[in-house]
Amino acid sequence: MSTTRTVRSELADGREIVFFSLAGNTARPVPDVRPLPARADTAPSEIRRDRQTGDWVAIAALRQERTYKPPADQCPLCPSPNGDRSEVPAAEYDVVVFENRFPSLSGAGDDAPEPIDDAVSAPGVGRCEVICFSSEHTTSFAELGHAHARLVMDAWRERTAALFALTGVEQVFCFENRGAEIGVTLPHPHGQIYGYPYLTPRTMSMLRQAREFAQMYGRNLFADILAGEIDAGVRILVSDEHVTAFVPFAARWPVEVHIYPNRHVHNLSELTDAELDALTSVYLDVLGRFDRLYPTPLPYISALHQYRTEGIQAHGYFHIELMSIRRSETKLKYLAASESAMDAFVTDVTPEQAADRLRSAAS
Ligand SMILES: [Zn+2]
Repeated sequence: MSTTRTVRSELADGREIVFFSLAGNTARPVPDVRPLPARADTAPSEIRRDRQTGDWVAIAALRQERTYKPPADQCPLCPSPNGDRSEVPAAEYDVVVFENRFPSLSGAGDDAPEPIDDAVSAPGVGRCEVICFSSEHTTSFAELGHAHARLVMDAWRERTAALFALTGVEQVFCFENRGAEIGVTLPHPHGQIYGYPYLTPRTMSMLRQAREFAQMYGRNLFADILAGEIDAGVRILVSDEHVTAFVPFAARWPVEVHIYPNRHVHNLSELTDAELDALTSVYLDVLGRFDRLYPTPLPYISALHQYRTEGIQAHGYFHIELMSIRRSETKLKYLAASESAMDAFVTDVTPEQAADRLRSAAS
């Protein structure tokens, strides 16, 4: 971590921006001279509890105004050398993170929010950040070199620690939506980082499973899943001393890959440099396979599952889940009645077949 070079600055409306630079590069932000409205003028979002399930829903009406598929010369994520054109006031950058101008959740860390344990609604306190993987408008994560992809990992690690430290943030979620098919409105290679004020429904159900497993067997559920996959072998895609990637036994998506460090850690902060290097290599390997599956690049979602080290979250095991809705060269899987209304996934490709296809998509 100490080797990552970071430079901090502020955007015209007071939002924080952090530049991460490759060895030998230094970020040189210029003043952001855009006449942006002050953030206090924008209405905060609200979270409401669905009392049927106990799950929170974030109601963020202001996001309707967000930038939708702008022309390439107006990309808000490309560098802006004069500080007048985009969200990144600098002539160039390697990786940059800034607070989202249209956040679903905001205000974490400002002051201690009311506890929400028994509430049915509350202000949408939290944090939403944008992370640009490269200043190059037309590249993709899969095309980054190892050092550059590792810099993204370092940025994710730094932001995870920073957001965990904010009052009001319970869970930190780094993710990438890639491809217009899954609703990406900006083609510039980027991801997002959410700091939620609660544990998300999928995380909560995974942690409950893991807690129950630990009570019954005295071991970590995810470590047991990983050991089972390594034993079975049939769904393993890539593995080395530090990291293993596999198609899960009960995959829900036509393309689904989970990447685990071989050692139980809760979040990126606990990985060693060697483990982070290995994770970077395996991640790039898997993304490369995704793009070789079909004549056009695969739309995908990448989800970093990270946990705190105390409470129920201590049962968590850091890993990355990647999934795609594309089920053939031209067809997408739509989440219809069974999936959308019942959370009951039906898939027409076996996870073993999916693993075979991804194995044959090696470079
Ligand atoms: Zn761009």
